[in-house]
Parts: sequence; C-alpha cells; structure tokens
Amino acid sequence: MFRLALHWQILLGMIAGSLIGLTLNYTSSKRNVQVESGDRLPSGIRSAEIEDSSEATVIQYIDASGNQIKRTVSPIAGDKDHFRSFDALKKVDADAVEIYEAHGKSVAKQFGDWFSKLGGLFLRMLQMVAVPLIVTSLLTGVIGLGSSTGIGRMFRRTIFYYLCTSMLAIITGLVVVNVVRPGLRGQPVAKVKADEVAHTSASLVDVLFGQFEAMIPKNPLAALAEPNFLSVIAFTVAFALFTISVGGKTSERIGELATAGFDVMMAMTMAIIRLAPIGVFFLIAAVTSTQGAGVFMSLLWYVVAVAVALGIHAFISLPLIVKVFAKRSPIEFAKAMSPALLTAFSSASSNGTLPLTMSNVEERAGISNRTGSFVLPLGATINMDGTALYEAVAVLFIAQLHFERNLEMSEQIVVALTALLASVGAAGIPHAGLVMMAIILHAVGLPLEMQGVILAVDRVLDMCRTSVNVWSDAVGCAVVDALENRQPSVT
Ligand code: ASP
Repeated sequence: MFRLALHWQILLGMIAGSLIGLTLNYTSSKRNVQVESGDRLPSGIRSAEIEDSSEATVIQYIDASGNQIKRTVSPIAGDKDHFRSFDALKKVDADAVEIYEAHGKSVAKQFGDWFSKLGGLFLRMLQMVAVPLIVTSLLTGVIGLGSSTGIGRMFRRTIFYYLCTSMLAIITGLVVVNVVRPGLRGQPVAKVKADEVAHTSASLVDVLFGQFEAMIPKNPLAALAEPNFLSVIAFTVAFALFTISVGGKTSERIGELATAGFDVMMAMTMAIIRLAPIGVFFLIAAVTSTQGAGVFMSLLWYVVAVAVALGIHAFISLPLIVKVFAKRSPIEFAKAMSPALLTAFSSASSNGTLPLTMSNVEERAGISNRTGSFVLPLGATINMDGTALYEAVAVLFIAQLHFERNLEMSEQIVVALTALLASVGAAGIPHAGLVMMAIILHAVGLPLEMQGVILAVDRVLDMCRTSVNVWSDAVGCAVVDALENRQPSVT
C-alpha cells in the first residue's frame, strides 16, 4: 500500500493545523459579551462586559461598591491597567480572570486550549522516553568505545564545533541587525511594567558556575527524577568510564544490559514518532488559533531581521559545513532529520525533541550510536546556535529602540560574548532564551523592562530558533562522526 514518508506526513499535519488554526482565528477570535448579575459571576460582582480578540482581551466589571473596573490583557502595548498575560492578571485580580474563563473566551481560544492540551500529550510521551533513552544510549555509546581516550578526543571536537558554530551564528545575527536596523525604522512600541518581564537576578558567572556544579550531582537519582540533563549526562559518562576501567565480566554485563535497554527504548521512541504528524497538527493549531497573524505586524522589522539571520545560518552556513566537513549532501541530511526539525519547530523545545533527534540521526541518517549518543544530549543542553543568534539580534534591537542609535563596536563585542555564554546556559525548553536575555541586557546597561516589547512575538521566533538549535546539533553529529570515522585507529 502507498504510504507517505514520515516527514511529508508531518509537513501535512503542520499545514493542516495552521490552516485550521488561522481559519478559527479569522472567523471566531472575536467575542463580545455582557453578563448581568447572578449569571455565574463571582460573588459581589454586579455586571460585566468582555471583549475578546487575539490582540487583546478587555474585561470590565462593576464591583460590590459600584466601582467600574477595567483590565486589559494583551501581548502588545497598553495603559496602566494592562497585563501581559492572564497569569499576571490573576495575581492582582482573580475575579477578572474568573469572569473571563466563565463567559468571555472566544471560540478560537476555547479550541486553542484543547489543541494545546491534545498536542501536550505528544510532548509528554517524548518527555517520558527522554531520560531512559539518554542513559541507555550514552552507556551503550561510551562502553562501546572501549577506551576512555577516544571519548576525550570526541569531547574536544564536539566542544570546538559548538563554539565555532555558535560564534558564527552570532556574527551572522550582528551583521544582519546592523544592516536591517529594525529598531530604527519600525513603529514605536510602548514599554511595559517591570514585574511582567522575565527576571533572573543571577549574574553570568553565577549561571555558568551553576552549570559546572550541575555536572556533579549531589544525588544522581534526584537528577534523573528532576530531570537535570547536564547532571544525568555527566554521571552517566562517569559511570560508563568506570565500567570500562573495571573491565572484565562486569563491563561485559553492564554493556549487554545497556544495549538491551537501549533497543527497547529505541523501539518505544520510534512508535511515538509515528504519532508526530498528529502531535504537530495540534501544537501548530493551538498557536495559530490563539495568536493569529496580527500580533506580528507591529514588530515586523524585528521579526524579519531574526528570520533572515536564522535563515542564513540554517540554509547557507550549516549546509556548507555538512558539505565540507561531513562530506555529505546537505539536502539528503536535512531530509533525514526533518521529523526532528519540524517537531522542534512546533514544540519550541530542544530537550523535548531530543529522543526524536537521536533516533533520526541513527536510524535515518546512518550516524553511529557512539557519536549520536554523545554529541546530541550534550548539544541539546549547551549548543544553541539559534538562541545565541537570537539573543544578539534582540539585544541590539532593544538598544536601537532605547538609545535610538546602534551600539558601539566594543559594546557589540560584549553582546556577542555574553550571548554565547547565555546560550550555553539556556535550557532546551520554550522561552528559555528570553529568561537568559536579562543577563545580556544587564551587561550593556539596558533596562530589563525593554524586554517587554519583544514578548509578543517570542513564541514564533522561539519555534524558528529551536529548529536551528536542533539542526546545528545534528550537523555537529555528522561532522564529528565523519572525523571519527576518518581516523578509526587513533585513540
Ligand atoms: N526554546 C529553545 C530550545 O529549546 C531555547 C530558547 O528559548 O531559545 O532550544
């Protein structure tokens, strides 16, 4: 029977999900209701009026003492009663959120909520296999290496690749943002209140030291349960290395057990991957039905700058690296990786996509488990080209808006270096890059509040940068594998 290849199925799921989401958004994202007292209103509220759309939700009500209260929730700009999210509003006024949940949600948002719950099931399945897959895969890979010196060489090559490509990505981002100058030509965007932006009080040194600390888990089982990927990777590699050094029957037994466990986990992951078209369908439909296209317009130039820079890195720089260093066809390689890349796009999480990336690299791209199991888990945590590039563009954009000029060369170098370190520190989960950005803004003396202006479009840019993160991890795998295979006898 004719069966469409998996990546085409996923692409179709993505297109169908976007079409349904956008149609819902265009036809039923507006809702205007008036609610009279007694009509399921929180106690004491006399009447309420709600206007919902994808750009903003306005909730007005009259409380027990007759005061008229108005709250606006919108990802774009607004007045003093304006909130970025329902969570922020809930902290100040739970009644307003209750009224909205009971009466005001547009049909598009109601569907959006369900889409995101159903898509969430697919993400949960991926999360479910992540830790056992990483552990068994790393054990198999490292014990299979048979000698601890081989790992050292692979480690050096991997880290060198990560640093070079992330720096290349940042330079691409800086060049594009200096040419496009998005902050000096768009429409003015209003600022928001300080308590609505992602905060991190830690300094860069603290964050990086935290990463080192994580490599020595106090309790490896707690790290597995959390899960803290860096801790899990570090402990598993150490365990595998000591297994090799104990040698003999012990090493043989543990090696066999790890391989058996890995085979089972791989089979499970492959089964979940077959559900990817459905998962991607729901995830995309959730984003498009609730957000629509309107929110992206006010920050158009900024979105264009990030997209162009990510495009150059993903479609020119990385394919060139595949061609020159891995000596493979970039198109064939991208095709093999497409289920992982499309899932990264719709889920905005490189950690979430990791099981898929690992199985694509081994099953579809023919890279050895030894390389895949070592390079990919490490890459999902510390190699983020897309995030590094994005940090650089976003901070320069914010600086252009704030200072109404471009940053000096020396300041741009500070941005580049901090962006590199911030991308190493960012976790592979949605919106992690936004949290890390506070560190760079601080380094060049920009107010954190300015980050509020880019919140509205962060989700869509997160989707793009996550695909680039995963693509770069995969390319790294191909490069390291090719180099290893060229010198099989060197240990
Ligand atoms: N979402 C990205 C990832 O998982 C991280 C980021 O926010 O840039 O790779």
